[in-house]
Amino acid sequence: VLSTMQDVPLLISRILTHGSTVHGTSQVTTWTGEGEPHRRSYAEIGARAAQLAHALRDDLGVTDADRVATLAWNNAEHVEAYFAIPCMGAVLHTLNLRLPAGQLAFIVNHAADKVVIVNGSLLPLLAPLLPQLPTVEHVVVTGPGDRSLLDGASAQVHEYEDLIAAKPTHYDWPELDERQAAAMCYTSGTTGDPKGVVYSHRSIYLHSMQVNMAQSMGLTDQDTSLVVVPQFHVNAWGLPHATFMTGVNLLMPDRFLQPAPLAEMIESEKPTHAAAVPTIWQGLLAELTAKPRDVSSLTQVTIGGSACPPSLMEAFDNLGMRVCHAWGMTETSPLGTVARPPAHAVGTDEEFAYRLTQGRFPAGVEARLTGPGGERLPWDGESAGELEVRGNWIAGAYYNGPDAEPLRPADKFSDDGWLKTGDVGTINPEGYLTLTDRAKDVIKSGGEWISSVDLENALMSHPDVAEAAVVAVPDEKWGERPLATVVLKEGSGADFEELRAFLASDVCKIAKWQLPERWTIIESVPKTSVGKFDKKVLRRRYAEGDLD
Ligand code: ADP
Repeated sequence: VLSTMQDVPLLISRILTHGSTVHGTSQVTTWTGEGEPHRRSYAEIGARAAQLAHALRDDLGVTDADRVATLAWNNAEHVEAYFAIPCMGAVLHTLNLRLPAGQLAFIVNHAADKVVIVNGSLLPLLAPLLPQLPTVEHVVVTGPGDRSLLDGASAQVHEYEDLIAAKPTHYDWPELDERQAAAMCYTSGTTGDPKGVVYSHRSIYLHSMQVNMAQSMGLTDQDTSLVVVPQFHVNAWGLPHATFMTGVNLLMPDRFLQPAPLAEMIESEKPTHAAAVPTIWQGLLAELTAKPRDVSSLTQVTIGGSACPPSLMEAFDNLGMRVCHAWGMTETSPLGTVARPPAHAVGTDEEFAYRLTQGRFPAGVEARLTGPGGERLPWDGESAGELEVRGNWIAGAYYNGPDAEPLRPADKFSDDGWLKTGDVGTINPEGYLTLTDRAKDVIKSGGEWISSVDLENALMSHPDVAEAAVVAVPDEKWGERPLATVVLKEGSGADFEELRAFLASDVCKIAKWQLPERWTIIESVPKTSVGKFDKKVLRRRYAEGDLD
């Protein structure tokens, strides 16, 4: 029997049209560092996105499926590009501005980007790379920055504002196939070359609806969301698309991502929600402790990207900011799980433990655990295995060129098409995921596994510890043992004996055989391009004798 429903493709242009009309008065506010922040309504963003699409098509010759890259901070122009590019049928490629130059060139060339829209402040990064980017025909510059850096460039250089100024503010968005490529994002390449994930209109549309659900972020047009997570990090976790569905106001920090300006923008712009990786929140916490500000507007904080340390969640709870922990990855768009406690735990002693899990799977994400021998493990909250997922916004392959068959490496995709996440953990009968570690970070000591995350969380709950990262190092007797690298808070005098005793104490309850015997004080934990602990660097430094 055929359904009698209309079949309207799930297109990003529909999200844009909805946001810029029904929620036309909602605002995108961009922090400028000094003076008044810059404000633009959703209606204006819609009009300017149409102008940009006209310019890309008519002046720059962008056609269907061409890749248009952005090298940009979170700001209003970047939101315009987010909509203009996919809505006209091209593919948005967000470039991670913190990648090493070699990797940046690799991904531009791999995606064969035709245009790069760049913030002026990032020209010192882009300009020297251009000679290595033969596919880039046009560079479009927004905002302040030294244009002379582009003198002699073989690509044509354009001013964003000049380019769009005279263009019509309406664009007849094409009726695309909803399965067509809309945006692409490369994994940050913690192992090997970065791999490209290509999102479709349909996957972004469905993901946006999930982000908006009450059991995910659940924001409305009464909210203002401070989007600290970069727009190049998995589409800013889907926020710009999701907010155009609901009219949530966006507060964009541009390049002002240090703790002090973040505290300032929270105090003056009064966001109700914010999203970022744990390291950003650790920094903000230290800032607020040193110099208290009125941050009372901010009641909901989404933390993901790495495990949220319990001490951080507690500290934010005490400040009146309720942390909501979530798990995801570039390959999962990224929303995979969100740790809203179940109704029966709310208000009980169990609630905090539920909030510390990675969270519950939403209806659109199916999950299973696979043991070392490939066997399926039960959702009993105890059996630990590799997490595999499938769903409408989960990658089924990696990009391999416009006309090539996508890549499905066997270590990343199962024979029956599920994504192998590389994350190890348990799932309880209610569908709550608890990750113990990444498969490549877990410490294999004498046939037993030690969770680096458990040790880190315990260490970071010590009052003298600012940050701690634990990595596996080779050991003759046990195969591997944990090395604890610790950043002490300024002026604190804790020593290793004390920290070790703290781990073993009733507060942390770390088993004796798991206690590290190797310790080192470092000045800061090295971070990856998206602000996570870079354990690869720590392991290398140890191997080079730098951390003894
Ligand atoms: P990269 O792999 O380069 O870090 P991603 O941002 O795609 O890039 O990272 C996804 C990975 O981050 C996940 O596979 C997982 O290991 C980790 N991760 C994300 N969120 C969490 C979380 N809430 N708790 C623990 N680990 C997390």
